[in-house]
Amino acid sequence: MAADDCRRYRAEHREELTVTATPAQILAGHPVGPKPDAAVCIGCGSPLHETDIVFAYAYRCADAVQWDVPRLFCHGCAPSRIRSPTLGTTELLVGGRLGTITLPTPRSPRLCLTELALRAFSPPAEGCAP
Ligand SMILES: [Zn+2]
Repeated sequence: MAADDCRRYRAEHREELTVTATPAQILAGHPVGPKPDAAVCIGCGSPLHETDIVFAYAYRCADAVQWDVPRLFCHGCAPSRIRSPTLGTTELLVGGRLGTITLPTPRSPRLCLTELALRAFSPPAEGCAP
């Protein structure tokens, strides 16, 4: 669909277009780490650098649009499953490498997730109430 047709479609239907994507696609390029150039493994505290193999725990509440990636693990500390799934939340573990992305507003590179593969997944209907 050409861009003009796409805009017309959205105007006519008064809704955002929705596409289906895999978790690995959604989280590719997602900024991670508390500081622009630093991230650590939450298991052992090892610093994680660009190109390192990393695993990330990500979740999204049922009514949220954004994914949150609060935990990163090194290769040795990565869990193989979601340890305590939460009801109403989509949770997943992905493995990949750290890359960098340059966001236009802060004008500085940030670490991000790249080359991801899904390792574990917990749908919203699974787990204990939060
Ligand atoms: Zn570790």
